[in-house]
Amino acid sequence: MNFLNKIFNFIFPEFCKLCQRPLSYNEILICNNCFPKLPFLKLYCQKCGTPLPDHLKNLLSYKEINYCSYCQTQKFYFNKTFSAFYYKKPVSDWIISLKFGKDFSLGYKLGKLLKSVFIDKIPAFDLVIPVPLSSERLKVRGFNQSFLIAWGFLGKRPSQELLKRIKYTKPQTELSQKERWKNVKNAFEANLKVKNKTILLIDDVMTTGATLNEASKALKKAGAKEIYVLTIAKNTLN
Ligand SMILES: [Zn+2]
Ligand SMILES: [Zn+2]
Repeated sequence: MNFLNKIFNFIFPEFCKLCQRPLSYNEILICNNCFPKLPFLKLYCQKCGTPLPDHLKNLLSYKEINYCSYCQTQKFYFNKTFSAFYYKKPVSDWIISLKFGKDFSLGYKLGKLLKSVFIDKIPAFDLVIPVPLSSERLKVRGFNQSFLIAWGFLGKRPSQELLKRIKYTKPQTELSQKERWKNVKNAFEANLKVKNKTILLIDDVMTTGATLNEASKALKKAGAKEIYVLTIAKNTLN
C-alpha cells in the first residue's frame, strides 16, 4: 500500500460494515476484529463447491475432498471451485447492494477481499474471466457485477472479450434446479485465445453451478486447459 493510499484513507476514512469502526488502510470492508465473524465456508467439495457436513472435518483434511455425491450425478467442466462464504448475512446483503443498489465500489472491494482470502490457495492461472451478462441484462443493470469483482481481484480491468453470452436467458433466481440447467444450456461462446490457458472464472454467487458449468463448457470447447471457479458466496436452493 503506497503513501498516497494512506493519505487518501486519512482524508476519506471508510468504516467497518459490521462495527462501524474506522478501517485502517489495509483492511477491506470490515475490520480485523470482525473478519472472523464472516460466514466462511469451511468444508466443501473442492470440485463443485457443495458444502459438506462439518463432522467430515474429523475424518479428512478438507483438501482431500475432491468430489461429492452431487459431482457423481452431474458432469462439471471446471476443475476446482473456490467459494469464500455461505450466502448468509452480511455477505448476502453486500451482494444484494452490489447488484440492485448499484454500489460499484463494493464489487471492487469484494474482489479485493476474495484475493485476501484465497491468495495462497488458488493455483497459478493465466487469465481471469468474469462470467458475462447478456447484452439485454447489461442494458437494464448498466454493469456486470462479476466484472467488478474480477477487477478488484486482479487489480486491473479484466478482459471481457474472451467469453460472451450468445443466448438470452431468464434470471436463474426465478427458476427451479432443473430449469436452471436448461435455461443456460449453450448460452456461452469463448474466444480461441483461451486455448491451452488456465482460467480463473469469476462470478458473484454459485448456486447449482449451472451457469458456471456452461461457461466452463464453452471455454473447454475453445481449448482451455484448466478452469478454476471463484465466487464470493455459495448458495443452496433449499
Ligand atoms: Zn468491525
Ligand atoms: Zn462435488
